[in-house]
Amino acid sequence: MRIDVVTIFPEYLEPLNVSLVGKARARGQLDVRVHDLRSWTHDRHHTVDDTPYGGGPGMVMKPEPWGEALDHILTTGGDDGPEAAGERPVLVVPTPSGEPFTQELAVELSERPWLVFTPARYEGIDRRVIEEYGERLDVREVSIGDYVLAGGEAPVLVMVEAVARLLPGVLGNAESHRDDSFAPGAMADLLEGPVFTKPPEWRGRGIPEVLLSGHHGRIARWRRDQALARTSANRPDLIARCDPAALDKRDRATLAELGWQQGTDGRFGRPGEAVEE
Ligand code: SAM
Repeated sequence: MRIDVVTIFPEYLEPLNVSLVGKARARGQLDVRVHDLRSWTHDRHHTVDDTPYGGGPGMVMKPEPWGEALDHILTTGGDDGPEAAGERPVLVVPTPSGEPFTQELAVELSERPWLVFTPARYEGIDRRVIEEYGERLDVREVSIGDYVLAGGEAPVLVMVEAVARLLPGVLGNAESHRDDSFAPGAMADLLEGPVFTKPPEWRGRGIPEVLLSGHHGRIARWRRDQALARTSANRPDLIARCDPAALDKRDRATLAELGWQQGTDGRFGRPGEAVEE
């Protein structure tokens, strides 16, 4: 996969050289290119921002450097990258006003050969840039959460790591993300339960007996109950919108013990509690 990032703080992306993403780059599984937006400015001060039309506080990123940067990226590459095969990238625009970044979106992006990220600063990028490239590329405006950061570089680090660990061969054990919270499949929409390792006793605290039993069926059931309990405690919204068809009889019994009731539509709710959908 090829990943391009355009930023006014290339050094902010240094963590892409370490750990999982760094190793994937070193192995040639990821071709990451970080570009300095100021390389496409032409004034003495390398200006990338200006005052907003209509007034108001803050500055807005000018369209011209972004346009030149993106045109350059779209027309350059190697002999064997996705660009050589005629692929168009997905343009991922971090913004608090975008669609939520989810595991589902991470999976979708991991299936594309080329992603271009445009982390902004100030009040964001002149809208015309999104409109212009939206006519030529798949553009995804994405938020990593309901809070506002000073810039899009940290969201890019978050998204690249979430996507990179899904690429074939990047995780040492391909099974590792199968049971993750939000992983598609049996655990979809449930958070992963607690995990334990050696020693068997630490500061007087032991390991749940069932994990030492060697009984795979009982262990799987215990994990499922723990996932239901943790999701019920930390993310009741996920239980409320959970597909009843994905739950077996024992799941329903566990949820009943946790105070959930199944409505006539099959959905779960807790009496007296308004759950945000
Ligand atoms: N005025 C903008 C608003 O309220 O939507 C906030 C701009 S923010 C200070 C500057 C940049 O940080 C954004 O353009 C975006 O690139 C990035 N950013 C901040 N919070 C983010 C979030 N939750 N998700 C993704 N990107 C974010």
